[in-house]
Amino acid sequence: MRKLKVAAFYPHPDDMEAQVAGTLLKYVEQGHEVHVVIAMDGRRGRGILPDQVSWPEIVELRKKEAIAGSKYLNVTPTFLGIEDHRLVEDRSCYEIVITEMENLNPDIIFTCAPNDYHNDHRALSRLVLNVAWTPVFFSDTKAGVDFNPDFYVNITQQMPTKLKMLGEHSSQLQEQSAEALQVLNRFRGIQCSKSEIIYAEAFKLYKRANWVKAYELLPDDDFNPPVQIVPTLEKN
Ligand SMILES: [Zn+2]
Repeated sequence: MRKLKVAAFYPHPDDMEAQVAGTLLKYVEQGHEVHVVIAMDGRRGRGILPDQVSWPEIVELRKKEAIAGSKYLNVTPTFLGIEDHRLVEDRSCYEIVITEMENLNPDIIFTCAPNDYHNDHRALSRLVLNVAWTPVFFSDTKAGVDFNPDFYVNITQQMPTKLKMLGEHSSQLQEQSAEALQVLNRFRGIQCSKSEIIYAEAFKLYKRANWVKAYELLPDDDFNPPVQIVPTLEKN
């Protein structure tokens, strides 16, 4: 496969780790170029914070944590710096996102599902879609609610590193979040019906006429999705 430029557009610091880190690790292992874009500054994310910490201090802390998380991918994230809860489909946000998209000019894009649980996630998803000219894959919603995947990436080997990446966000770690993620990725692994697949990340392709074969850009070398666009004749 040719070397791909992969862009991950995610709203808050820690969303990339939760939603797509295993797949991005796989791209890096296979020699592709990965870029992480974090749209929001993370100031309103709840979590474990010392008393009387100011918003600029929270923003700095979350930036440091995001840089530490992305180190496992050997990349430094790009921070678009939009304030939490202030991402809307207006001209200024559109300009920020399209400018970054033009800078990167990626071959494949990952972002949140348009029905994800948080308003910033939904808003970024719509903006990314509006400015994307290459295939867009939506990652799983939080806790997998109302998400029927088209494709799965086997992240069994990458799962321990994914959890370490998530662990870098110590100011945001809620007690059950690593467990919730393991359960979700295990559930998606079970849906693959293959004993060797313990953990998987699940995706939906945004269907558009010239993107229908975009699944070929996913990083699995043994690509054999349980849910296929073309039905298989292979006997199970
Ligand atoms: Zn988020």
